[in-house]
Amino acid sequence: MQNYEQLEKSAQHIVQRVRPSIWQISFHYPTPTNCWLLKDKDGLTLIDAGHTWSSKFILAAIESIGHPLRRIIITHAHPDHAGAANELAGKTQAIVMAHQSEIPFLQGQRTMANEKGSLICRAILSTGRLLGSLDSPSIERVQPVADGEELGSLQVIHTPGHTPGSISLWDADEQAIFCGDNLLFSMGAVRVGLPWFTLDRSTQNKSLKRYLDLPAQLLLSGHGPVYAGDVTSKIRKLI
Ligand SMILES: [Zn+2]
Ligand SMILES: [Zn+2]
Repeated sequence: MQNYEQLEKSAQHIVQRVRPSIWQISFHYPTPTNCWLLKDKDGLTLIDAGHTWSSKFILAAIESIGHPLRRIIITHAHPDHAGAANELAGKTQAIVMAHQSEIPFLQGQRTMANEKGSLICRAILSTGRLLGSLDSPSIERVQPVADGEELGSLQVIHTPGHTPGSISLWDADEQAIFCGDNLLFSMGAVRVGLPWFTLDRSTQNKSLKRYLDLPAQLLLSGHGPVYAGDVTSKIRKLI
């Protein structure tokens, strides 16, 4: 476990600087969940927006870093990644961006619980929906992003499977992959992310192969700690 410079800390969260231009905001409950702030030429980019209750912590982190928030990129529409996006966009004027296939879920036109896919995953999603914890507050405006598009210093990679419009982001300057829920570093190993919450594991597996072209040295996942090392060789062993 590496020691990074800590900016803020509470019973619910911690903000730490993992690279000069990348900050991790990690929420402890109900499971360790991350969002990321990246300093770009025009200001900050937020990658994922945590749960609905995360916005005050994210706004405090933005204020202490001291640059304006320009864009909020949602890796996928699960409520632990998109929850606070609408509130944050309203308070900061940042543009929300996501893959086209994910936008109907973010705007309340469709629910992930009704999608085709793994029966276990669909049962979990349906239960989440019944409990009112699946669908995040609808986001007024979402700009679609496509595979290969460049957003500041990041490149979009469409990596479907976990959800239809899951995206990853490649930061060539930092050799970092923001992988959403496709992978996570847990108990000392890089693992395929969240199988019970993944609609289509075989499509996810194909998506993971796209990471092999990247000389990644940093894996920044939606959940769990940072993995710093040879990401490509770890992924090769998984697929
Ligand atoms: Zn997810
Ligand atoms: Zn997640």
